[in-house]
Amino acid sequence: MSTLLITHPASLNHLNGAGHPERPDRIRAIESALEQEKFQTLAREQAPLADLETVALCHPMEYVEEIRDAAPKEGQVQLDADTSMSPGTWEAALRAVGGATRAVDEVLGKKAANAFIAQRPPGHHAETVRPMGFCIFNQAAIAARYAQKKHGIHRAAVVDFDVHHGNGTQEIFWSDATLMYCSTHQMPLYPGTGAVNERGDHDNIVNAPLRPGDGGEQFKAAMETRILPRLQAFGAELIIISAGFDAHIRDPLANLQLVEEDFAWATRKIMDVADKTAQGRVVSVLEGGYDLEGLSKSAAAHVTALIRG
Ligand SMILES: [Zn+2]
Repeated sequence: MSTLLITHPASLNHLNGAGHPERPDRIRAIESALEQEKFQTLAREQAPLADLETVALCHPMEYVEEIRDAAPKEGQVQLDADTSMSPGTWEAALRAVGGATRAVDEVLGKKAANAFIAQRPPGHHAETVRPMGFCIFNQAAIAARYAQKKHGIHRAAVVDFDVHHGNGTQEIFWSDATLMYCSTHQMPLYPGTGAVNERGDHDNIVNAPLRPGDGGEQFKAAMETRILPRLQAFGAELIIISAGFDAHIRDPLANLQLVEEDFAWATRKIMDVADKTAQGRVVSVLEGGYDLEGLSKSAAAHVTALIRG
């Protein structure tokens, strides 16, 4: 079985406006990096549109319909200070969810070894009824609930190494003992959540904040001592990665100092846990990453690890 790469050109039609860091070139940079010879073994699929009931696994239908109805015919509509919709956003957001759930189908159906979804907008800041931080629907959280509902698995986990805390995934998972959320992130930083004492109603939230200036050594220690043991003990049957690459040293939005190889290392470590508890099943969803060189090289290192290259 191959690693599956899911993309869709609709991801390029979601526009946040001139100068916004969350831009279509992010996807172009990743797709270009994944055209190298060594990625020829990837299976490639285009993301389908998610149906609204699937989005509603984590967001009430009224919220989904409010987002649909907010989409402008032209220009832009602000959803919060840094999250907006353009005419292409609705389709891009539905296909970002559809890509994640298609990956779940392919990986749990044993058609693919694991998968990476290179789409936008990102999702981990989106709460149950609140778009924020460039995010509209929380595709990582939806993928977890979808795997439970459609494929009958009991436990799923999201591991999030984006430099920002995934407040949305934490909020959605908070009271659900069958879902675990684990995060490394810079603190203090947007959105302000993610302290160690935020643990969920069932001790199912694991936060491992890092300090501004921390690099690979501190990141690996946080993973090895705080996150990976808890992840393994939880026994997830599917591990979803919220793969943000904005902890890269080149990234303009934060102050961690990771390099490409640190993301590859984390990917391999998460895969080791998945091999033990989840039959190796990993679905990785793109979140942040705003320096095009840091982003594309890190995504390439991440996918190299997924293909066990
Ligand atoms: Zn981020």
